[in-house]
Amino acid sequence: MQRAKGVIRVSTPASVLLAALAVAAIVPIAAQDFELVVLNGRVVDPESGLDAIRSVGISGGKIAAISDGALKGRRTIDAAGLVVAPGFIDLHEHGQTDEAYGYEAADGVTTSFELEVGTGDVDRWYKEREPGRLINYGVSVGHIQVRMAVLHDPSTFLPSGDAAHKVASPAEIAEMVQRIDDGLRKGAVAVGLGPSYTAAATQWEILEVFRAAARHHAPVHVHIRGGIAGLEEVIAGSAITGTPLHVVHINSSGLAQTREMLQIITEARSRGLDVTTEAYPYTAGMSEIQSANYDAWESWPNERFATLEWPVTGERLTRETFVKYRKIGGPVIGHSNTDEMVAVAINSPITAIASDGYMSNGIGHPRTSGTYSRVLGHYVRESGSLSLMDALRKMTLMPAQRLEARVPAMRNKGRVRVGADADLTLFDPARVADRATYRQPTLQPEGILHVLVNGVLVVDAGKLVPGVAPGRAVRVPQ
Ligand SMILES: [Zn+2]
Repeated sequence: MQRAKGVIRVSTPASVLLAALAVAAIVPIAAQDFELVVLNGRVVDPESGLDAIRSVGISGGKIAAISDGALKGRRTIDAAGLVVAPGFIDLHEHGQTDEAYGYEAADGVTTSFELEVGTGDVDRWYKEREPGRLINYGVSVGHIQVRMAVLHDPSTFLPSGDAAHKVASPAEIAEMVQRIDDGLRKGAVAVGLGPSYTAAATQWEILEVFRAAARHHAPVHVHIRGGIAGLEEVIAGSAITGTPLHVVHINSSGLAQTREMLQIITEARSRGLDVTTEAYPYTAGMSEIQSANYDAWESWPNERFATLEWPVTGERLTRETFVKYRKIGGPVIGHSNTDEMVAVAINSPITAIASDGYMSNGIGHPRTSGTYSRVLGHYVRESGSLSLMDALRKMTLMPAQRLEARVPAMRNKGRVRVGADADLTLFDPARVADRATYRQPTLQPEGILHVLVNGVLVVDAGKLVPGVAPGRAVRVPQ
């Protein structure tokens, strides 16, 4: 690496350097052509703390130069007035289809992970996405999915049969552990776990999952059982086995106890445990109506059904319509949290931002299309409760750091740094805002103008670029 006139460049072969020296007098570095130059944007990089006007030169899918002078490219994006941030990294996104990747890219996401539910077949999951997609993608091997396969659950995404309700035999647990181990050998980036959905899984079975993860030092991404006891169960799993723990959507798992749960995680961290968490900026959650999350419905008071919304029609449910739709199955929105608790979760210094998104044929939750723009518009600009740097750290560096001990590729994401992958999100900080609603969950945000994945524009002038697939698999090398 050499430095010249505020320009940082990646190292170049000696022969090229000699040739460059020969012409240095007449061709300064800044005049050399990059494939693409992002000119005069406000570069914000949470790792280095840089927040200044810079130009970024991109070649070969990498950030090749960051300069306070002008750079020349075969193509130039005028970024004056725009923030140039590392592309957003979503650790929790169930929408892993071309449809969903489009909504995610428009919200500034350049890498999308399905780590909570994950997959039971890691090879097949990655193979289905070859040779690439709109944005980068990766997956965990998921205990939920593995338990469904071993216990022959009739559902596909979340359990509704034996995987939710049956206590597994020692032989069945051994088979689950073997499949998780196999998935990690095949390059899964983490282990997914959801005792909330596999209610019959014993604490011993949960601990066996942590042990399997620990043999690969893989983080376990958990949708905990309800209440503080559910959090303590998995912190114990991490402490006993030494493997990292990531608690998903602390806002919706915590609800009125979000503050207390954040305190418990902070205390666990101060004792040296590797425990992290995430949040999404909406008061409603979403799950599958036939899932074990709603198994206790018969004892609910009537008014509780009205907290549920059927997204296909927008109707609030009654006891009768709940029974009807539970037989049909599908995603249901639960209006279960308060703005105050969501703000506690989003503003906490220990939460990454992650969407928990899902969208299929336009039916889903607005968090799929609006999580990142909502944090930037609502919490950074309107309420001012988060600084821009802190918000971007939660969207970029924190999720990259969560995975990078196991996944070397993540060391080159979540940063605007020479040599890093050219995953960049350019937005107008004065305008950025979510527009998606529960009734219209696919509405594209305002103010996210250009999104680059591995140096290729996937959003240009606020519009999705058709026919490009620069996103690559993020996977542990085997
Ligand atoms: Zn989820």
